[in-house]
Amino acid sequence: MSDCVTSNDKLFCGTCKILANAEIAASVWRVALEAPKFASLARPGQFLMLRLPNSNDPILGRPFAVYDADPATGRVEAVYAVVGKATSRMTALQPGDALELWGPLGNGWDAARRASAPKRLALVAGGVGSAPFYLLVKELMAQDPAVRPETTYVFGARSKERLNCVDEFRALGVDVRVTTEDGSVGTKGFATDVLPEIFPESLDPADCQILACGPTPMLRAVAAWSAKRGYDCWTSLESPMACGMGLCYSCVVKWLIDPALGDVEGNWDYRRTCVDGPVFNAAHLVW
Ligand SMILES: Cc1cc2nc3c(=O)[nH]c(=O)nc-3n(C[C@H](O)[C@H](O)[C@H](O)COP(=O)(O)OP(=O)(O)OC[C@H]3O[C@@H](n4cnc5c(N)ncnc54)[C@H](O)[C@@H]3O)c2cc1C
Repeated sequence: MSDCVTSNDKLFCGTCKILANAEIAASVWRVALEAPKFASLARPGQFLMLRLPNSNDPILGRPFAVYDADPATGRVEAVYAVVGKATSRMTALQPGDALELWGPLGNGWDAARRASAPKRLALVAGGVGSAPFYLLVKELMAQDPAVRPETTYVFGARSKERLNCVDEFRALGVDVRVTTEDGSVGTKGFATDVLPEIFPESLDPADCQILACGPTPMLRAVAAWSAKRGYDCWTSLESPMACGMGLCYSCVVKWLIDPALGDVEGNWDYRRTCVDGPVFNAAHLVW
């Protein structure tokens, strides 16, 4: 397996050996790669690009959140939903096969974590929106409990067949709440339905933060609920993108300069999900 490293040593690109590739929930797969350099660079919430080698169909790489990256073993993992050409073809890959990988890319959750020091934190995931949270929870749970925010991981899915990685989050020791739309496991309803239990109104809004990743309707609901409460809220977007490096502008989102003024002429600009995100302060986005 080969690799190349840019002069600033912040980006890995290379062809990596697949260590495992298996279905973990309905149409949700997890792939593990041998990528020691990448594993030593990745931060929670960053993403990677994967591309099938020796093929020009599809010619572009596809972005996926870094699920896990262990500098000690060099193992890097991503969780992917099978939705189209690249992800369908990825399901045929076997241990020992190769995938092209480059990254880590994007800002990750560090931007959100620098913005405030909450006492109460909720991580809200829907579907494969679980992926960017695993490394973050690992990092949080390794912190001294005296300084760590009281953290709840909320995972919402349509039904129990769609649950992914929940037991691994539990194994890290974080408080986990599961919701399903059909009530087949956990609380019946949406991930947002349990937020009032996690955040009693008696809490000071300045002590509360919500990070979210998942389908847009879920993010919109989380952003609206957080805004109503005056909480700091950050969302990780999955805008379709081509290059992943800020060159093509295919992943731009409308970004409000002053959230208090709203979506009015002169108060917005574009931001690229790949290099300015994928994590954005929800108050700056137009939902
Ligand atoms: C920063 C980032 C992180 C991501 N992390 C993950 C992850 O951890 N796990 C995961 O499963 N997916 C993730 N995605 C989405 C993933 O990149 C797409 O599902 C993937 O590119 C689809 O490739 P494909 O060739 O299989 O599908 P395509 O053949 O390209 O598309 C199939 C269908 O899905 C639609 N589609 C493609 N991409 C998206 C998208 N981003 N949003 C909505 N619809 C889309 C297309 O319009 C088309 O209708 C992430 C996206 C971004 C930008």
